[in-house]
Amino acid sequence: MAKIYFDNNATCLLDANIKQQMFALMDEPLNASSTHKNGRKARLIKEAARAKILASVNAKNCNLVFTATGTEANNLALNGLTDYQVFAGATEHPSVLKVWEDAKIINVDSNGLLNLEHLKELLQQHKGNCLVSVMYANNETGVIQNIKQVADIAHEYGAIVHSDAVQAYGKIAIDFAALGVDMLTVSAHKSGGPQGVGALIHKKSVPLKAIIRGGGQELNLRSGTENIVSIFGFGLLAEYLDKKIDAFREVAKLRDYLEQEILKVSRDSVVFGSNVQRLPNTTYVTMKDVSREAILMNFDLLDIAISAGSACSSGTTKLSHVLIAMGAANNVAESAVRISLAPGNSYDEADQFVKEWRSMYLRTSNKAA
Ligand code: PLP
Repeated sequence: MAKIYFDNNATCLLDANIKQQMFALMDEPLNASSTHKNGRKARLIKEAARAKILASVNAKNCNLVFTATGTEANNLALNGLTDYQVFAGATEHPSVLKVWEDAKIINVDSNGLLNLEHLKELLQQHKGNCLVSVMYANNETGVIQNIKQVADIAHEYGAIVHSDAVQAYGKIAIDFAALGVDMLTVSAHKSGGPQGVGALIHKKSVPLKAIIRGGGQELNLRSGTENIVSIFGFGLLAEYLDKKIDAFREVAKLRDYLEQEILKVSRDSVVFGSNVQRLPNTTYVTMKDVSREAILMNFDLLDIAISAGSACSSGTTKLSHVLIAMGAANNVAESAVRISLAPGNSYDEADQFVKEWRSMYLRTSNKAA
């Protein structure tokens, strides 16, 4: 593992306590479709986890479909409805934006917040069934959308509302009932739970159809043998979610400190989304006139892990669609890197990071004088 790991929005270190309990479960073969004792045990584990996750987001009367990833859950939400026109925010994750080529894109403002007037305009123009998909919190900037307002508007036009809460789950409190959404994607691995599992929570009234067909294991909406050990780990995360959210609340202080120190060093840095509500752990910041590849490489050589935005587009030269949608100039977007913290990170690490940021900032040609 990197000496300093500041890429927790890509994936977080698995909590030691969850890992230990998952390990213990790996001693047994567990298939929830089997009729024998082990199968019954697997089913009990799965149902207990389902109940805990639903309770953790106040969605007790809803269905929850376990999937392998957040990506799959988003695909189920968007592809599981037939004859619906999709409306998606411009800054959505590719696992939403790439599902429907003809999705109508809802603009965002310079803070990354959805343009609600544009949403209304788009919905007014469409006559048939509509599905509005707007993420809870952005993976690059951490910007949190006002999902309740989005849901209220969308419902006025009879639309179904989906929110991708992959980045929000475990970092901030989510209340499915209060938000008024119809479907919510959650995942465990962005806040200390295991990889290999995601979930789509939906109101029972949503006319969803399976996109992966076969044995019908998950409520006839998702076939394939379930990853019982990861589902168990997801349930553990859900059980302790309040504590996890408290820990992330503390992380906000560290993030604010880090940002403040970075801005003392490089006053010409831009921090995206800093005027609006953001996830407690995320900062998306520029080093003026330095390419993000150069910044990433510099920090990688120092064994400090950060990212150029979403994990999926790191390592490519494509500019962030999130920053472009927010109206950032190409040369500004070109120099932006994402730093995403977790409860295990320390002030000492933040200081080391800032020391290296300073060193790089000062030696880049434009500022040497
Ligand atoms: N949605 C958001 C906002 C994400 O950040 C990610 C992953 O980075 C996903 C969906 C996809 O989740 P997964 O990588 O678990 O498929």
